[in-house]
Amino acid sequence: MLYGVKDLRIEGTPTPRVEAGEVLVKVKAATTCGTDLKIFQRGYVEKIIKLPTIFGHEWAGEVVEVGEGLEWPEKGMRVRAGNSAPCLHCTMCQKGKYNLCENMIWLWGAYAEYIKIPARMVLVNTQEIPTHVSYEEAAITEPLACVLHGAEEAGIKLGDSVAIIGAGPIGLLHLLTAKKIGVEKAIVIDLVEERLNFAEKLGADETINAGKTDVPEAVRKLTNGYGADVVIEAIGLQASWEQALKLVRKGGTVLEFGGCPPGTEIRVNPEMLHYGEVTVMGAFHTTPLHFRKALNLIASRTIDVRPLITRRMKLEEIREAFEILATSKSEIKIAINP
Ligand SMILES: [Zn+2]
Ligand SMILES: [Zn+2]
Repeated sequence: MLYGVKDLRIEGTPTPRVEAGEVLVKVKAATTCGTDLKIFQRGYVEKIIKLPTIFGHEWAGEVVEVGEGLEWPEKGMRVRAGNSAPCLHCTMCQKGKYNLCENMIWLWGAYAEYIKIPARMVLVNTQEIPTHVSYEEAAITEPLACVLHGAEEAGIKLGDSVAIIGAGPIGLLHLLTAKKIGVEKAIVIDLVEERLNFAEKLGADETINAGKTDVPEAVRKLTNGYGADVVIEAIGLQASWEQALKLVRKGGTVLEFGGCPPGTEIRVNPEMLHYGEVTVMGAFHTTPLHFRKALNLIASRTIDVRPLITRRMKLEEIREAFEILATSKSEIKIAINP
């Protein structure tokens, strides 16, 4: 149970009772996420998570109970679901912007033995996992879905150069996705050498250590003096959001992907937008379509997420897991197995 910043407690809770249309799942694997770490370290956004709550949102498991009135899924089925389900009838949903749904429901509670899928989520955002895909791989569907949505919005194309700020789990998923789209050059920027080495192993063409190098200059050097076609910020800090603006070429796109702390403001140079025709955009969360795409890409190993799991721990060790994530330089994602 998460009670507040750095206040994670292990407690017994009753197994959720299943009502009509709901499904109970025995969690087989949950994966830690940058969002979890951010909420653990610096607080939360009330709209998305209400405390205290069972923590964690990336998971997969086995159906143990199916509520009345459902023809699908079946008991014993391997599934993943959530972490969100749009209402499908608000104005945003009617515009096709399901990720911006006014009545979105969110599901927390992955770091537990059992998790209950709400009725709407059973219908809108639950998928069966193919037998050759492990539970921990399937759990990574959620962050990959967010990344796919962002990459689509940014319009990354075959032959583009892409600069990614941040080599955490999200930055690395952006790297894997950009490489599959067929970018000419993927440049990864981070402060931690171990993470840059890891990015190289995953296919980064160039890496830049922001602690040792002038980043805008280095990116220009790697892009014939122009800057990258697409820049992706995958950290969520004012400084890196502003830095992203300095790495893009004229006519290029900046995707500000990482969520900043509330109240953050950034400075944008209007000349860059006007004379330089730079597009600066944000991307939030993802849609049920992208959840399906993400699981399919994981299942076909088109995007192989297995290397991102760098450690496995037990549910009882969850606090330790977050301490490790907060301090480690080399851990990417920890799979939590109840
Ligand atoms: Zn996540
Ligand atoms: Zn809606």
